Amino acid sequence: MENIKKDVVIIGGGAAGLMCAAEAGKRGRSVLVIEHAEKTGKKILISGGGRCNFTNKSVSSENFISRNPHFCKSALAGFTPDDFIALVEQYNISYHEKTLGQLFCDGSSRQIAAMLESECKDANVQIFLNCSVNELNKKVNFELKTSHGNVTAGSVVIASGGISIPKMGATDFGYKIAKQFDIALTEIRPGLVPLTFSSEERNSFSELSGISIESIVTFNKTSFRENILFTHKGLSGPAILQISNYCETGKPVFINLLPDNNLAEIFTEQLKNKPAPKIELTNFISNYFPKRFAEVFCKKYFEIKPLNQYSQKDLIYISGKFHKWEIIPSGTEGFDKAEVTLGGIDTNELSSKTMESKKVKGLYFIGEVVDVTGWLGGYNFQWAWASGVAAGKFV
Ligand SMILES: Cc1cc2nc3c(=O)[nH]c(=O)nc-3n(C[C@H](O)[C@H](O)[C@H](O)COP(=O)(O)OP(=O)(O)OC[C@H]3O[C@@H](n4cnc5c(N)ncnc54)[C@H](O)[C@@H]3O)c2cc1C
Repeated sequence: MENIKKDVVIIGGGAAGLMCAAEAGKRGRSVLVIEHAEKTGKKILISGGGRCNFTNKSVSSENFISRNPHFCKSALAGFTPDDFIALVEQYNISYHEKTLGQLFCDGSSRQIAAMLESECKDANVQIFLNCSVNELNKKVNFELKTSHGNVTAGSVVIASGGISIPKMGATDFGYKIAKQFDIALTEIRPGLVPLTFSSEERNSFSELSGISIESIVTFNKTSFRENILFTHKGLSGPAILQISNYCETGKPVFINLLPDNNLAEIFTEQLKNKPAPKIELTNFISNYFPKRFAEVFCKKYFEIKPLNQYSQKDLIYISGKFHKWEIIPSGTEGFDKAEVTLGGIDTNELSSKTMESKKVKGLYFIGEVVDVTGWLGGYNFQWAWASGVAAGKFV
């Protein structure tokens, strides 16, 4: 068994941990990354559908959810999307903007993982794979008992991520360490996660699985305009994943299924025609939506008849259903399907400049384990990079 001394030990070799390791290593610090999986950066590899949406061209604190919305500002200003893009370009990794400022690799997420590994190698970072930490105590220094032996370090960085997708190796290690050192946590819950229908809606809409519709999805005062996607269990797609970060159980989500049109006005125009149109509602609605959706949606909510047989009140009701479809999700698909974990280490416990614990000197928390969660679109990686660099400059 080894008995190792390091300046810095980083627990978790994911996005934030590797970035922090490279930054600290470049400063001449001796750094060890402890990763319990068989390889580093597993979430990077599966991210962005295999192409890693590694950042977003426009990032501000408004793209993040945290009990303290100002906390992320300092780290985000200290390492910007342009800084990460410069690194990507230095490695000749070609990329493109997909939509809404979201930058993806042209090739593969593997290029980003390899880039970070190479940065760590150049900075003489040592990495233990398949290594578990059995105990972490603080005396003068931190003392770790690991499956690879005992390690002593002046600084310890917790970069073990959230608990979303446990089958990818996610654990609650960071939260346990917080509890051990009496560091407060905010409530955690699944984020960027599909919503589930009640059993009644599930029976009505499960046959629409696979259909996607550009919509504006709103919860309270927060709205996102992107696609929604019907699934066997409920709704997913980017607009739903975004709003899932804000939803509260038992409260309604409103969906404008036809954001570029005003159906009430369209009906009024149609009914001005002489003779009045006799086209059936479902066929008329099919002009705006996939046919299968029009059939199922109209059958569920309306009495189907020719357009000219509806009263004005009926048409306003019909229009309202499409422009303000109300659903009360029964829940979410949970941590198994969530891209991120909302909540985590209470930011009041940390320095926003260095990510160091205010209570325990030398103990740092970075990345998703902290109560800072980004929107869909490259924001979560930007937080991982930026918080990793912030800590890497001080450890
Ligand atoms: C399917 C999917 C797709 C995603 N796509 C994107 C995207 O395109 N763009 C984007 O911005 N965000 C994306 N995300 C979110 C993003 O992956 C995370 O927010 C980001 O990886 C968080 O970085 P992190 O370093 O804090 O945690 P992680 O990357 O999760 O790294 C934590 C590391 O710690 C290790 N670990 C855990 N427990 C222990 C322990 N006890 N001992 C030792 N090691 C441990 C883990 O194995 C892991 O390697 C996606 C997430 C998922 C699940």
